[in-house]
Amino acid sequence: MVEGKLLGSIEAGGTKFVCAIADANFNVIEQTKFKTTNPVDTMAKTTAFFQQFNVSAIGIGSFGPIGIKEGQDDYGFITKTPKVGWSDFDFVGSLKAAVNVPVFFTTDVNASVYGEYEFGTVKKDQTLVYFTLGTGVGVGVIQGGSFVGGRSHPEIGHIILRKHPDDVNFAGVCRFHGDCLEGLASGPSLAARTGIAGENISDSDPVWDIIAYYIAQAAWSVTLSFRPDKIIFGGSVSSRPGLLSKARQQFAQMNNDYLPLPDLDNYIVHPKIENNGSATYGDLALALFALQKATVK
Ligand code: ZN
Repeated sequence: MVEGKLLGSIEAGGTKFVCAIADANFNVIEQTKFKTTNPVDTMAKTTAFFQQFNVSAIGIGSFGPIGIKEGQDDYGFITKTPKVGWSDFDFVGSLKAAVNVPVFFTTDVNASVYGEYEFGTVKKDQTLVYFTLGTGVGVGVIQGGSFVGGRSHPEIGHIILRKHPDDVNFAGVCRFHGDCLEGLASGPSLAARTGIAGENISDSDPVWDIIAYYIAQAAWSVTLSFRPDKIIFGGSVSSRPGLLSKARQQFAQMNNDYLPLPDLDNYIVHPKIENNGSATYGDLALALFALQKATVK
């Protein structure tokens, strides 16, 4: 029985943490946000928040890379991250030392894709891809009701793309690969090209045609790989008005009538859950999943 239980969500981002408590019907009761600093201080704030409530299970969607395979040595850890102090940090272990409840630990984008899967517009058993284009680029995929992943979670944010003709001299901003998808289409790539912070660039700036070209290629790659029912683009870059319609046009040209495709307005889309809430609702649904799994044992 889950009635009367409280569920927790931790959206662990590289720049901020969002923690939430909800009832078993996913009504959010309390939410808090704070800056991501060092792991000790950040986890102290996180556990202090949850200790105020009689929480029964917590879903965690974390920045990565992370260890998500239960039974592997790195399960529950942030693994090799450029974020100072967080490499090899035992996230789940340090949470459970203070708040010992069942957890579901996955990537931020897996949490987002799960939120859209549970509460968005797709039918169950459909294949769904979720991109976030923000400070970094991440991708979560659900197929056959499960997250796609082998030895670990997908890393589609770092695929290599064909350069836009007007972008050939831009080296990209990924510290590992330069001009991978993250290097070419993340928020910092906008500032690196134009000298203007992404949010201050006008809608008519030609840089958006370049970003749309990369979004179209990203959508094309996952279309070929997974043949999904829907591809969702979340995050601050994707929310730019008009950007996805440009990307749909480029996408149609790339396809060149090769594959039969659904109506692109309903295929390459923004998240259904508003206000960047996909990850929180996904975390809460995954917390419920963890709770039910622990109850059955
Ligand atoms: Zn990269």
